[in-house]
Amino acid sequence: MWCEPGSPALPASVQPEVCGLNAYLRNHGIAPTRVPSEDGRKAALYASVGPDCAGGVVLSGHTDVVPVVGQDWHSDPFVVREANGRLFGRGTCDMKGFDALALAAFVQASKRDLKRPLQIALSYDEETGMTGAPPMIDHMCAHGMTRAATVIVGEPSMLKVVTGHKGGFGYQVHVRGHEVHSSLMHEGVSAVMIAADLVHWANVMNAHSAAATPTETAAEFIPSYTTIHVGTINGGTAHNITARDCRFEIDFRVLPDENHDEWKALFQAEIARLQDRMRAVHPNTFIDAFQDFGVAGLAPETDGAAEALVRRLTGKNSSNVVSYLTEGGLFQGVGYSTVVCGPGDIAQAHQPNEYITLEQFRQGEAFMGRLVDALCE
Ligand SMILES: [Zn+2]
Repeated sequence: MWCEPGSPALPASVQPEVCGLNAYLRNHGIAPTRVPSEDGRKAALYASVGPDCAGGVVLSGHTDVVPVVGQDWHSDPFVVREANGRLFGRGTCDMKGFDALALAAFVQASKRDLKRPLQIALSYDEETGMTGAPPMIDHMCAHGMTRAATVIVGEPSMLKVVTGHKGGFGYQVHVRGHEVHSSLMHEGVSAVMIAADLVHWANVMNAHSAAATPTETAAEFIPSYTTIHVGTINGGTAHNITARDCRFEIDFRVLPDENHDEWKALFQAEIARLQDRMRAVHPNTFIDAFQDFGVAGLAPETDGAAEALVRRLTGKNSSNVVSYLTEGGLFQGVGYSTVVCGPGDIAQAHQPNEYITLEQFRQGEAFMGRLVDALCE
């Protein structure tokens, strides 16, 4: 699960030694591919076992976790502690528990007579903007193994089958007005009042979206429409001065069957319209919108192969959509059939004294066992 900008804990995420993982797999005779970050300080890793043919399954996880700074932990967050039927530790739920189960199953699968490949894909920086997965997925598609049919993203879902979530993107907006005494406000441009126009635009769009008839996909979500939200706003210096600067943060949560670029174009068109009005008063005014995140949504698939597989493995014949964001949409975006399904409860993610129950962990292990068996059929 990704912790969005504006959420409490957001310093750089923590990534353990992926080289340790690299060595672990090599010791088992598996040759993983590392995809380093631009600065070379982190790496994503993917690997495949079994025959190089179509019909494979990817187990997708992330290796970073959110920080523990400022949280009240009752034991070392980076040493797993078992107590009361629970495994405590940072990432036990989101999502080192799944990663461990996937790696164990992966090594076991390498010794089995697989008829279709099992692949593993572990990203970095999922929690801080999902920047590690895109180059890894590109690499998998361009240089890697035969494209797998399905992807299982192991974010905690209590092993329920999750077929969809909204996507999202956000901007930090800076409105630069022109300062005059408020008695002469016709000669000035109030950055606060222009920002208010943009906030009002968000309200109007929300009302319009709420009134529209939802599509079949939209109807699965609560609320069943794309929402635009302004979380912070700050501007002006005095009641009698037209504000020179105003800054606010605006987020879009977009239905997975809608196009992010179309929403961005609507927003930019409104910015352009307001900017024309500002510049008719004073040329040095502007509105600058800096996009600080963007995550693809996961759209429920019609007769999706991943959903069918995971329903079979879990014995569950219902599917859910969720409100958190995952890397699933990135895989789906390049053509993989994708679902989210992993052990543990998302409610424990990012919390102090994060845990996964042993019961969920064992169910996850059984799930992996059934998956490996299915790949041998
Ligand atoms: Zn996660």
